[in-house]
Amino acid sequence: MPIYDSLKQSLADLQSQSLLRQRRIVDSPCGPEIEIGGRRLLAFASNDYLGLAGKPALATAAQKAAKRWGAGAGASHLVSGHYSAHDALEKRLAEFVGLPAAISFSTGYMANIAVMPALLSRNDAIFADRVNHASLVDGALLARAELHRYPHGDLKALEGALIASGSRRKLIVSDTVFSMDGDVAPLAGLLELAERFDAWLLLDDAHGFGVLGPQGRGALAEAGLQSERIIYMGTLGKAAGVAGAFVAGSQDLVDWLVNTARAYIFTTAAPPMLAETLLAAVDLIEQADTQRAYLQKLIAAFRHGMQGTRWTLPDSRTAIQPVIVGDNAEVLALARALDDAGFWVPAIRPPTVPAGSARLRVSLTAAHTLKQVQALTAALQTLSAAA
Ligand SMILES: *Cc1c(COP(=O)(O)O)cnc(C)c1O
Repeated sequence: MPIYDSLKQSLADLQSQSLLRQRRIVDSPCGPEIEIGGRRLLAFASNDYLGLAGKPALATAAQKAAKRWGAGAGASHLVSGHYSAHDALEKRLAEFVGLPAAISFSTGYMANIAVMPALLSRNDAIFADRVNHASLVDGALLARAELHRYPHGDLKALEGALIASGSRRKLIVSDTVFSMDGDVAPLAGLLELAERFDAWLLLDDAHGFGVLGPQGRGALAEAGLQSERIIYMGTLGKAAGVAGAFVAGSQDLVDWLVNTARAYIFTTAAPPMLAETLLAAVDLIEQADTQRAYLQKLIAAFRHGMQGTRWTLPDSRTAIQPVIVGDNAEVLALARALDDAGFWVPAIRPPTVPAGSARLRVSLTAAHTLKQVQALTAALQTLSAAA
C-alpha cells in the first residue's frame, strides 16, 4: 500500500537513529521488583515516589470504592457523571494544597491542555520555561496565544520577555520539579514576576505533589507561597499512586474551568471509584513523613554512590536523578547493559530531552531499600569503569 511507504520509511529512520520506542510489558504490580517476560528486574523507572501504587492498603481502598460505586461514571461531569466522591476529592485536595477550590481531571495531560485554552486566546501571551513538560507545550499551542519560551530557569530572560510584551492577558507557566532534570523552578522569583506584570502563574507540580513540603502538600507549601494568582496543577498518578489530576486556585478560576475547559467538558468523568480511592491516597500521603525522610536518605545515597563515574549528575535534590550520557546509541547500550545486570533504568532520548543530552532517568521511591540503591550505583560504577 503506497500510503504506508512513507510511514515505513519514517519508522526505519527512527530505528537507525536509535530513537525507535518500544513498550515493555510488565507482568507484576508497580514496585521496585517487577516481572518482565518471566525475568525479575529491579526497577528505577516509575514515578511512584511513595510506593503507593502497589500498596495493599490502597488496593483495599480501591476494592471498597468499587463495591460502593461500581466501575464507571457513565457520563461527563456536566451531564450526570459528577458524583459526591469527586466533590469530596476536590474539596480535600484544595484544602490539602492550601488553595480555595479545585477541579479534578482524568489525567495531568488533560488538565494541562484544558487550562491554557480556557484562559487565553489569540491576543494573549504565554511565557514558558523551555524544558517544561510536553503537555504544557501542547496546552499553549491549543490556546493559540503568543508563545515565548525562555531559557531554563532564567528569570532575567523571562523578565525581558514580559517587559517587551504588549499582550493584555499574560500567563507564566512552569514545571515545579522538572520531569527529566529533577531540579526545582525558582518559584518565589516566578511569583514576583507574575505579580509585577499582572500575569497568572500556572505551576505543574506533577513531581512535587505528595513528595515536597510538610505532609507532602507540594511545592507551594514547601516554598511557603500562597497567591490567588497561582494556578496549581497536581497529578494523581505519580506520588498519589492512582490516576488523575487536579487544578486548584480561586473559586472564580474553578467556576470558569467547569464552564469552558473543553478537556473537562467533553470527556467521560473519571470513575467515582477512583476519586474515592484517591481520598484514601491523600490520607496516606499526609501520613508519609517518615517515607519522605527515607526517600531523602536514598537520594543522598545515590548521589554519593555515583561519585567518580564518567557521567554528569546534574544538581537535583529530588527523586528524579538523571545521569547525562549524551549520545542516543550510548545511552541505549548503557540501559541494555543494566538490563543484563538485572536493573531497569529508562533511557530518555530526544525529543523528550534536547538533542545531545540523552540520559538515564533514575527515579527513586520510598519503596526502594538502601541495599537496592547501592546495588544500582555499584553496577553503574562497574559499567563506568568498563566503558
Ligand atoms: C506526568 C506529567 C504530566 C502528565 O500527567 P498524567 O497524569 O500522567 O497525564 C504533566 N506534567 C508533568 C510535569 C508530568 O511529569
